[in-house]
Amino acid sequence: MTTLSRRQALAAGIAMPLAASFLTRPALANAPLQGSGFAPWNRFKLGGFEVTTLLVGTRAGDKPQETFGMNATPEDFAAISAANFIPADLTQNFFTPTLVNTGAELVLFDTGLSAEGTLAALTAAGITADQVDVVVLTHMHGDHIGGLMGADGVTPTFANARYVTGSVEHNNWSTAANEGFDRSVKPLNDKITFIDDGGSPLSGITAMAAAGHTPGHMIYMVESEGQRLAITADTANHYVWSLQRPDWEVRFDADKAAAAATRKQVFGMIAADRIPFIGYHMPFPGVGFVEAQGEGFRYVPASYQLMLNG
Ligand SMILES: [Zn+2]
Repeated sequence: MTTLSRRQALAAGIAMPLAASFLTRPALANAPLQGSGFAPWNRFKLGGFEVTTLLVGTRAGDKPQETFGMNATPEDFAAISAANFIPADLTQNFFTPTLVNTGAELVLFDTGLSAEGTLAALTAAGITADQVDVVVLTHMHGDHIGGLMGADGVTPTFANARYVTGSVEHNNWSTAANEGFDRSVKPLNDKITFIDDGGSPLSGITAMAAAGHTPGHMIYMVESEGQRLAITADTANHYVWSLQRPDWEVRFDADKAAAAATRKQVFGMIAADRIPFIGYHMPFPGVGFVEAQGEGFRYVPASYQLMLNG
């Protein structure tokens, strides 16, 4: 180790603990402000499985009542927002695919808005696209199928994957002349396995029909060594407005009455069973519990419960 003279140290930019340097220099931090943020992945164990949620995009939006409380009064919408410490005139949306590594296969539930966003989160989580064995699509909205194809629009992002989706959902969009479906899903048809309510894309994972948001929207129960988790996709699209008031109509729900009935049924089951769930649009990391309360449900974000799984 070399000993530096004070002159050399100053020249090398090393701070010297001398009063003079404080007196003659303004107290500025050397580190620039970085902007807010957090890691785009969160991983926990579920029995013998590993579950990773991936934040592939997030964006702010205004006038949330027009999306999440179409049939609410402005007074009720404002009151529930205030009671939950969120503004009534702004919201933040999250897009959160889930990876499940069963030990035998790596399964990705939904693919995000774009390949770019999803690959960035995967890379941060230490996963490469070619490691994904199965892609499960809960439904065919653009924020769930947007990552299927790469930037050129024609090269599948997950080169080694097979695909699983609900037959009702696929049939619906096949006849809908939908640009996103035609571009991203249709070219993969030969690699898709179609399942129905109660079907299983692979051992330990079971599909449940949860229609309303789209005609064939499906959710998934994941179970390993007696531990259970629900992947609820877009059954509820906001952690306060859609859970506390499941009857509030959501602009993105194709059949609003069916979506409300499905919300109450699915979250009633999750509340009764006290199992964790992952919601695609819940605040990241998107994992929590619900308790039945009044006409809806109280969302309890997961804290350390799943860390205790080891
Ligand atoms: Zn969605």
